Amino acid sequence: ARRAATCAPPTAGALADGTAVPLLANLGKPEDATAARELGAEGVGLFRTEFLFLNSAEAPTVADQQAAYETLLSGFAGCKVVVRVLDAGADKPLAFLNDDTEENPALGLRGIRVLRAREQILRDQLTALAQADAATTERGEGAELWVMAPMVATVEETEYFTSLARELGIKTPGVMVEVPSCALLADRVLQVADFASIGTNDLTQYTLAADRLLGSVASFQDPWHPAVLRLVKEVGAAGRDAGKPVGICGEAAADPLLAVVLVGLGATSLSMSPSALADVRMSLSGHSLDDARAIAEAALAANDAASARAAAQAAASRTT
Ligand code: PEP
Ligand code: MG
Repeated sequence: ARRAATCAPPTAGALADGTAVPLLANLGKPEDATAARELGAEGVGLFRTEFLFLNSAEAPTVADQQAAYETLLSGFAGCKVVVRVLDAGADKPLAFLNDDTEENPALGLRGIRVLRAREQILRDQLTALAQADAATTERGEGAELWVMAPMVATVEETEYFTSLARELGIKTPGVMVEVPSCALLADRVLQVADFASIGTNDLTQYTLAADRLLGSVASFQDPWHPAVLRLVKEVGAAGRDAGKPVGICGEAAADPLLAVVLVGLGATSLSMSPSALADVRMSLSGHSLDDARAIAEAALAANDAASARAAAQAAASRTT
C-alpha cells in the first residue's frame, strides 16, 4: 500500500474554547464529494446509498456498488466517511423490496428490518464497501470508513448488524439512533456498536408519533421539541460513558442555534447538507462547551419546541 492520504480540510469546526466539533457532509451521490469539500466538509457524516437502488428492478451488483463507493472514498481520501446501508421503506420506498400494502409503512418493514429479511442484499452491500475500502487504501487514497444501519430499534439488531459487518470486513460498524427505544437503551447499544449517529428527522417523527410526510401534522416535526432533546441527551451521556462518538446527521444539525444545543447535549460531530456548514461553523465558534451546556439546559427546561428555541436564544445571547 502507498502512504495513506491526509484529510487536511481548509477549516475545522470548533467551539470558542477550542473544543473540536468535526463538521461533516450529508451526501446522496459520490459526485457531490468535490463540492462538499469546497464548502469545508471535514468528512462525510451520512452517505445515503438509496440512489444506487432507485429506478432499478433489482439490487445493483457488488462490482457496480464497489465502483461508486471507491469514488466516494477517494473523493474524501484521508477523511472520515460514514456510509449508511440501504434505508428502504416508508419515505424511501423501493418497488422490489417493500410491500406497498402495508398500512403504516413508517412502522413497518423498513431500514435494517427489510435488509435482515433480504440478507443477501445487506451482505452484498457490506462486501462492496469492504472491497472499496481495501482497494482505495491499497492505492493510497483511502478514507476512514465507518458503516451504519438505519432504523435500529433494539440491542439485538445492533448485535446482528455489527457482527455481520465485522464478519464481512467492516472495521467500524455503528447504528443510527432514529427510534426512541434505541435512544433509551443507548448505553447498551453503545456497548456493542462502535458509534452512534442520531437521525433527528426520524427520531422526531417517532418521538412525536407524527408522520414526517404528512402535512396535517407537520407542526410536530420539530427537533427543538424537548422530548427529542431529552433523548439526544440520553444518547450523548451514553456515548460519553462508553467513550464512543455520537454524531448527529438529521436536519437539526443544520440549524446554527440547535447545533450548539446538540453539542451541549453531548454530540461529538455534526453532519448536514454542505450549504449549511459555514453558518453552523460560525455559530459554534461563538460559544464554549460550558456555554453550549447551559444553552442546552435552557432548551431542555421548556415545555414545547417554540419555547425551547426562545429559551436557547435568550441563553445564547447571555453567554456570547
Ligand atoms: C434522519 O432520519 O434524521 C436521517 C438522517 O435519515 P433520513 O432523513 O434519510 O431518513
Ligand atoms: Mg432516517
